[in-house]
Amino acid sequence: MELTIKNLSKTYPNGVKALDNVSLTIPQGMFGLLGPNGAGKSSLMRTIATLQEPDSGSIHLDAIDALHDKMALRRVLGYLPQEFGVYPRVSAEDLLDHMAVVKGIVNRNERRETVKALLEQTNLYEVRKRSISTFSGGMKQRFGIAQALIGEPLLIIVDEPTAGLDPGERNRFYNLLSEIGENIIVILSTHIVDDVRELCRNMAIINQGRVLYAGQPQAAMRELQGRIWERTIEKAELAEYQREYDVISTKLLAGQPLLHVRGQQLEAAGFQAVEPSLEDVFFSAIQGQAAQSTLLPA
Ligand code: ADP
Repeated sequence: MELTIKNLSKTYPNGVKALDNVSLTIPQGMFGLLGPNGAGKSSLMRTIATLQEPDSGSIHLDAIDALHDKMALRRVLGYLPQEFGVYPRVSAEDLLDHMAVVKGIVNRNERRETVKALLEQTNLYEVRKRSISTFSGGMKQRFGIAQALIGEPLLIIVDEPTAGLDPGERNRFYNLLSEIGENIIVILSTHIVDDVRELCRNMAIINQGRVLYAGQPQAAMRELQGRIWERTIEKAELAEYQREYDVISTKLLAGQPLLHVRGQQLEAAGFQAVEPSLEDVFFSAIQGQAAQSTLLPA
């Protein structure tokens, strides 16, 4: 099974080009769509989920033409949107049951089994009688996964799922996502590099509506081998270093700026070679795009 996206573009009525000729092939397993806020991730997720129309391009899940046969795609789709909106004051069990009816599971016994299995899988069975409005962020996200799993989907889309979760909740959510299995396609849209590093076998980096990298996280890190250097500097030196070097990120380490730069043989300048991280890959891709666009004629 494979999701094939070809030449997808979308410009909103206000002139923002949210998707700029996006082409991606997404295989089975967990796929990370990584990009900063405003990159176009939600626009892409909503388009794949058949909730909005692109201006041009195509999306196929194997033989299903998602843009022309929306119902066929929806039958095999599970979607966990960024915002669920307001939760009604009903119990988790009742809401899941209702959603199963909407998804077409009309047989009462089958539905009872499905709802019970999903509540157990997402570790919400103990709290099934509680209203979702009383759930923590992590519990709400696990409920979101439970409803996305109704009807054994082949494609699951989760949009920014770990934003706002504390570390414990995030771990539980990670474990749940990785259990969902390698036999379906799970697309995880996020601006959090750790989400992708810990969970995804394949990924794409997007920014300003464009795909900057598509491939395996490990391969991306290998490509940067020997080219990432770091050193701490004084705060007052920051501007000078940014002029002199190809700085891809600046972090404070105990109050002192720690720079990561791209380059070759920078020992003499006091830098140390580092093993490239996925964060370096991410910042390097985005920095490369920024550098390129300043070179392009206006
Ligand atoms: P992300 O999910 O990566 O944060 P989005 O897809 O939400 O990115 O947004 C991409 C760009 O499109 C942003 O500049 C955003 O402000 C803009 N945008 C998103 N939705 C709309 C809309 N409905 N109308 C106009 N602009 C939009």
